[in-house]
Amino acid sequence: MTRVGFVGLGIMGAPMARNLVKAGFAVAGYDRNTDAVARLAANGGTAARSIAEAVRDAEIVITMLPADPHVEDVVFGPGGIAGHIEPGTLFIDFSTVKPETSQRVARRFGEQGVRVLDAPVSGGEAGAVDGVLSIMVGGAQADFDAAKPVFDAVGKVAALVGPSGAGQFVKAANQLVVGGTYALVAEAIVLMEASGVDAEAGLEVLAGGLAGSRILELKRKSMLARDFTPGFRIDLHHKDMGIVLDAARQAEVALPFAGQVAAFVQSARAQGLGDADHSALLAVTERLSGR
Ligand code: NAD
Repeated sequence: MTRVGFVGLGIMGAPMARNLVKAGFAVAGYDRNTDAVARLAANGGTAARSIAEAVRDAEIVITMLPADPHVEDVVFGPGGIAGHIEPGTLFIDFSTVKPETSQRVARRFGEQGVRVLDAPVSGGEAGAVDGVLSIMVGGAQADFDAAKPVFDAVGKVAALVGPSGAGQFVKAANQLVVGGTYALVAEAIVLMEASGVDAEAGLEVLAGGLAGSRILELKRKSMLARDFTPGFRIDLHHKDMGIVLDAARQAEVALPFAGQVAAFVQSARAQGLGDADHSALLAVTERLSGR
């Protein structure tokens, strides 16, 4: 049985860890939220009381944390992974962070003989629960091959897209498309409702045509019901749009719509929707029209 240490058992990490247990991995889980750790233990994993305990004896160490400061803290902070991980261990960070954070982790762990992959995911909570995530991987081919059983347990598609940090650039592109799609679906809903047509039937027919998307498939009902329970929090999408804009600046490309999507997400935060699902861009769009 391959031993996995898993840190970060939130909306995404909890079902991913559960799927690793189901696939036959021995998973020791740690989160600062002790209820999340207890839930993993009830689902066949082992409760770790510290990062050190999760990492001890693990052949693979995984993190699924909100943002850069959490990854820096869990990896390099006091009591962090770096102080306990053994040379030769494979470290997979599924979190969405800045490419330079992934590159820094890879460099520092490389000096310790630890193998590193950045592997941000797409597919949302439903994809994590069903084990069908899309996984965008940066790192070395041999480490990608070694991680394949993990990727098979939590995902449907995994692609090695380049060296360390490359997975994060592809994830940034993903978040641009997702944010843009939500913003336009929101405008479509406002337009249809304001025009007095049956928006539910309208979205159903859109979903079946060229405008169709996973977002229309999975989220149209909750959006029409104004149910913005996360899912994926606006605060996290705000972090991701920052990564998109930084990457565009570094690459010296002009992405005018990326700036608009970022402004919508920023507006949602400013309106107190930071903890709402990112489909709450609909609420921002409605307010623009006084609805
Ligand atoms: P979340 O906030 O639900 O979960 C993060 C978990 O990390 C929490 O349980 C928190 O307690 C834990 N944590 C934070 N700091 C910690 C620390 N120092 N020590 C131990 N545990 C700590 O976030 P999420 O929605 O699961 O997202 C995780 C990552 O996945 C983010 O980078 C996000 O951008 C990305 N992502 C999320 C989704 C989604 O739909 N939610 C989809 C794709 C990617």
